[in-house]
Amino acid sequence: MTVTVATLGFPRIGPRRELKVALERYWSGKSDRAALLATAAELRAKSWARQVALGVDHVPSNDFSLYDHVLDTSAMVGAIPAIYGWAGGSVDLDIYFAMARGAQGDAQDECGQGCTHKAVDVPAAEMTKWFDTNYHYLVPEFAAGQAFALSSTKVIDEYLEARAQGVLTRPVLLGPVTFLKLGKSQTEGLHRQELLRALLPVYVEVLNRLAAAGATWVQIDEPCLVLDLAAEDRALLAEAYAALAAAATGIKLMLTTYFGALGDNLDTALVLPVAGLHLDLVRAPAQLGDVLAKAPPGLVLSLGIIDGRNVWRADLDAILARLDPVAKSGRAIVLAPSCSLLHTPIDLAQENALDADVRSWLAFAVQKIEELVTLARALNEGRSAVAEALAASSTAATSRRTSPKIHDQAVATRLAQVTAAMTRRHASFPERRRQQAEQLGLSAFPTTTIGSFPQTEDVRKARAAHGKGTLSDAEYESFLREETARTVRWQEQIGLDVLVHGEFERNDMVQYFGEQLAGFAFTRHGWVQSYGSRCVRPPILFGDVSRPKPMTVAWWSYAQSLTARPMKGMLTGPVTILNWSFVRDDIPRALACRQTALAIRDEVVDLEQAGARIIQIDEAALREGLPLRRGDWNTYLTWAVESFRLTASGVADRTQIHTHMCYSEFNDIIAAIGDMDADVISIETARSKMELLGAFADYRYPAEIGPGVYDIHSPRVPPVEEMTELLRVARTRLAPDQIWVNPDCGLKTRKWPETEAALVNMVAAAQAARAAL
Ligand code: GLN
Ligand code: ZN
Repeated sequence: MTVTVATLGFPRIGPRRELKVALERYWSGKSDRAALLATAAELRAKSWARQVALGVDHVPSNDFSLYDHVLDTSAMVGAIPAIYGWAGGSVDLDIYFAMARGAQGDAQDECGQGCTHKAVDVPAAEMTKWFDTNYHYLVPEFAAGQAFALSSTKVIDEYLEARAQGVLTRPVLLGPVTFLKLGKSQTEGLHRQELLRALLPVYVEVLNRLAAAGATWVQIDEPCLVLDLAAEDRALLAEAYAALAAAATGIKLMLTTYFGALGDNLDTALVLPVAGLHLDLVRAPAQLGDVLAKAPPGLVLSLGIIDGRNVWRADLDAILARLDPVAKSGRAIVLAPSCSLLHTPIDLAQENALDADVRSWLAFAVQKIEELVTLARALNEGRSAVAEALAASSTAATSRRTSPKIHDQAVATRLAQVTAAMTRRHASFPERRRQQAEQLGLSAFPTTTIGSFPQTEDVRKARAAHGKGTLSDAEYESFLREETARTVRWQEQIGLDVLVHGEFERNDMVQYFGEQLAGFAFTRHGWVQSYGSRCVRPPILFGDVSRPKPMTVAWWSYAQSLTARPMKGMLTGPVTILNWSFVRDDIPRALACRQTALAIRDEVVDLEQAGARIIQIDEAALREGLPLRRGDWNTYLTWAVESFRLTASGVADRTQIHTHMCYSEFNDIIAAIGDMDADVISIETARSKMELLGAFADYRYPAEIGPGVYDIHSPRVPPVEEMTELLRVARTRLAPDQIWVNPDCGLKTRKWPETEAALVNMVAAAQAARAAL
């Protein structure tokens, strides 16, 4: 039987981020709807043509989106909350973008790489992370009496569009059960079974219209199958697919699962009446044996053997050795990436500045498709047909396995010498606290900020000019010193207690460190969609990590030289660096994290040596690294927390370690947060009105806490009374001497006027709290 190749989805943004440019021009009124739609159509046409040229048999359609495929699904089924004033009919662009970004256009904002909150007064739909990726989707909302009706024919239109181009695609749909599971209901007690029953006719209609248009296969994504499911969820899956199979004739469904193993949902998946099942064999290689043993003989298996979540070139010989027996078994198989290629950059060919060796170890979306086609040809025509490509793959694999650029004996030796004592502070918190209070002499309710100050147009321009070489090192340096000095003076003037240098020299909280650490590489065009038009270019962690020289000490020393008040040393923690990078697949994540921890520990120790009394280690992304299955949480949290402690524990007891986390869910990880044993933690609490302090209070969190007293995601300046009130609420949950006063997160995306006004008010609120003691 011929082995075929599928892609489950191709990156949408375009090789040069054409979609981003087109969207932003449209949103800012510089172009019209026709121009936006023309760019989108052109991107689709090119990616179909490209996949066909590369040899893909099952080319996807409807994987493209103007913003987000979950939002597309809400539009498809007409799940449009009342606030958008939708009057039925087809969901137009205005409503679509209002749901995506709020009606006030550019008010959307984010604090840094990881925070993606909307300004509060903009009625956009809620956004959250797509499984354990850094892609964000818009959360579907269901209301009481929710009705569904086909309200966008995008999936059918795009099928016809491709067909007109001569490409018979396999349209992609987000499956009904995952769609419902990702959504939330505004009303208590909305039964998902009722919702599903209302929803299924829309899916049936879509499938029938696709069949009428000529589609034979449809890819239906149910990644919820890799999560911990309740019996109720399983029943919904059974009901949904029975209904689809009964009503939609002439269409074969390829049910796709990705981001993990089916595990205890395997039996559920295998009895669904579908024609094909896709498995993630990168995250969960071992499940292949079970599936082969149990799957009905007629079930087509789509084997996700090329990593859709990472950038590494595959070792094709090793994969072929695994595929041979399956191919010989006579079962119909399709080769595919583990998941949609949405999560990888598009084309390595654009990267001409990468180290040649590192480059030879990588594969982006286009290269991954080439790998799949090579594998399929090797199985169909014999290895000799693709001897050259297989040899090149082996050479790259060997080079990577043995390269001195990856393997650093000094790092291995150092790691072997890590002792448990190195992950513990010397004294317990109460004793450290006593020494720190003595050294710092801060008043009650000490005020501080999270680190960055506005990265103005001037700052960005200077950085760009320096990058291009039009601003000399000396000029750039003196510009940054001036910005820093002004910021330090100003913080003193308004009466902040613990100062920061402002982070003007940093492009990004991970990249800045990655660029200075050994073991990281950076791409020029390796963009990956984070949400809508926003893309990130994750660092590539390719080798053993070490710190050739101090990274932040000079800036810290300069800033501290300008003031007698404590200047915080400001670092990004190892877990966050890891979670926002493409990481190695040749060693465990935990080990890469530990290496990074040792490197950052060196910096912590050097900052202390230079005189820093307070060092903040940001772990903004600790929570998002949580595995999809509860059963795996402990392992992750254990090594993540251990890495943080290894980073933080090289200092004396009198040195105060802060950490910062910008999110507002702690209930389920509070014990791990406690185990981090930081002296002070700052968290995001303003919008939740200090609600999450309950978790800290219930846990009897012993250390000090800076619950954010104002939301930095909006330009709004909170009045003094509002912050005073939040502090009063905080005092009902925490002891007064536990509380710090700070904003929710860094101020880098804010402008100076609102920052100044808000911080002046914040200092006044702290003073009021002191007076009330
Ligand atoms: N120190 C960083 C800043 O202030 C923290 C950013 C973050 O938590 N995302 O920008
Ligand atoms: Zn933050």
